[in-house]
Amino acid sequence: MSEAKVIDGKAIAATVRADVAAEVKRLQASHGLTPGLAVVLVGEDPASKVYVKNKAAQTVECGMNSWEHKLPAETPEADVLALVQKLNNDPACHGILVQLPLPKHINSEKVLNSINPDKDVDGFHPVNVGRLWIGENALVPCTPTGSVILAKTVMPDLKGANAVVIGRSNIVGKPVAALLLREHCTVTIAHSRTKNIEDVVRAADLVVAAVGIPEMVKGSWIKPGAVVIDVGINRVPAENGKTKLVGDVAYEECAKVAGAITPVPGGVGPMTIACLLRNTAQAAAMQAGVKSAFA
Ligand code: NDP
Repeated sequence: MSEAKVIDGKAIAATVRADVAAEVKRLQASHGLTPGLAVVLVGEDPASKVYVKNKAAQTVECGMNSWEHKLPAETPEADVLALVQKLNNDPACHGILVQLPLPKHINSEKVLNSINPDKDVDGFHPVNVGRLWIGENALVPCTPTGSVILAKTVMPDLKGANAVVIGRSNIVGKPVAALLLREHCTVTIAHSRTKNIEDVVRAADLVVAAVGIPEMVKGSWIKPGAVVIDVGINRVPAENGKTKLVGDVAYEECAKVAGAITPVPGGVGPMTIACLLRNTAQAAAMQAGVKSAFA
């Protein structure tokens, strides 16, 4: 029997999308501005195709413009860079997302760094990374933003909380840590070389796990009442011979100790696209010189 409150990422993502739709209406009414998101997909990766389709559908549902640029797998890097430049110069396009992974002959870093930072709705551009860390108005990576929104639903005031982020990747761990620092948490970043990680985690009021190791965080690592946000998505064999998704947190045992916890699936996962839409509305407002509801 779980005792922790289950943080419903699906429901909270729906409220974020509703906020985005309201913001889009406001921007349209007050400034004649309809935010627009362009997604660039190179190649035929089946998972990427599904993501891009979902992103486009949800963009339109929020009242924004959506453009899908599907290029064949053999497209030369120069053509992808030329498309990004065209989108950089298109005033109707406020957000550019290049779906990863790109085919091997294309230098992903070069392509991502060619996106105008003000249109970088993934928040991966070094300029946005810098803006986030120095406290300027930035476009912040989507999964980290979603993780912190979820934490704040059960811990609205994070000031002074001991937060432990497990994982230090550029796309999840580090931006989560930066966001929590901005919320005035005392932040510890644990990683593969951290000593006595169980003890480090046991001191946390808030744990964010972004490791990529199925069910690594055990119930005995969790301080009673702590909030646990599980970013991990791992596909593992199931009892029925099929596969299932699990997080980086051993859910059943941690739920017995934690105060609140995100499930996998249905926790952080649904927040990612919702926060992409939020970033697109924010980018449009920033480019128009209008105060954003989300900045
Ligand atoms: P990375 O592989 O890029 O980073 C993993 C991090 O975990 C590294 O910093 C690594 O440390 C650390 N780590 C590895 N082993 C250990 C260990 N034994 N103890 C402590 N730390 C360890 O992964 P990502 O950040 O890209 O993703 C993390 C998880 O989040 C994955 O499960 C991924 O699928 C999921 N994810 C989910 C998203 C969503 O929408 N919900 C979006 C993006 C990712 P070191 O730096 O020392 O190597």
